[in-house]
Amino acid sequence: MRACIDIGGTKVSVSLNDPARPLELLARRHEPTAHTGTSEAVALQCIRMVAEACAELRIDPAQVQQVGVAAPGPFVLCDGRIELATPNICGGLPGSHGRLPNDWGTAPLEAPLLRRFARVRIENDAVAALEAERRWGALQGASHCAYVTWSTGVGCGLCVDGRVLHGKQGNAGHLGHSFASDDAHAVCGCGNVGDIEALVGGYALERRLGAPAHALFARAGQGDAQALATVDELCRVMGRALHNITAVLDLERISLGGAVFLNNQTLLLPRLAAQLKSRLPSLTAGCELLPAGLGLRVGDFGAVALLD
Ligand SMILES: [Zn+2]
Repeated sequence: MRACIDIGGTKVSVSLNDPARPLELLARRHEPTAHTGTSEAVALQCIRMVAEACAELRIDPAQVQQVGVAAPGPFVLCDGRIELATPNICGGLPGSHGRLPNDWGTAPLEAPLLRRFARVRIENDAVAALEAERRWGALQGASHCAYVTWSTGVGCGLCVDGRVLHGKQGNAGHLGHSFASDDAHAVCGCGNVGDIEALVGGYALERRLGAPAHALFARAGQGDAQALATVDELCRVMGRALHNITAVLDLERISLGGAVFLNNQTLLLPRLAAQLKSRLPSLTAGCELLPAGLGLRVGDFGAVALLD
């Protein structure tokens, strides 16, 4: 039995998994992400939740020695071990604006998990989702591909020549924090002004619209001209981001996930495809844009895909 952990800024999900049935998540449980105590609180929460899942299935926790963890970035390395420097988790970071009841500069993850588990693999959540989509979803058989999430935040996992890209600290694919505009009102949780996540991410969108994003998409779906113009503008930003990664990496397929995209794909997919294909066909022709094959479950299976 292996453990699968999906850490988000607001929620931690833990389940156990039998290698013989990889798409079955057992004793699954969720909790709000720990935001108080020592900076190891999130790691200790994960270890406790695995123990609780073992108790539910009446198995000896010592049997569970392998864990896959999908976590939000950015990551930093301390003595070669991954720590989270995530503005939604670490209250000591400039981008967290004092919203959190802690002063953590980072949240150590890999070192405390290695004190409990023999084998630990931690990846950025979009990279984990890319692995899941390559194994079971819309990216099966693709060697040059990306998984792009458009949700509260924006990010991607990238694969070129059949190799998943990681970078020097496992941070390859932080597409949301690449710059797209000089709009001084578009401030990202990371502290950047005018990056993609600040312009189109679900959290920033609510702040800028002063209303939940789903209300905008509902009005657009009913044909409201002003709402449709806003959706067009969002797709111009996101479509250019897709064009940019295609132009840089020569991709053949992109899988799109995340709640903002998946809940509104009838409106968004044709607009994004038009943005991607409207320029430089020598680079963009032959690059398919598909909804995530695993749909909203792609987050669940990201951590599973990190296990052998
Ligand atoms: Zn940012």
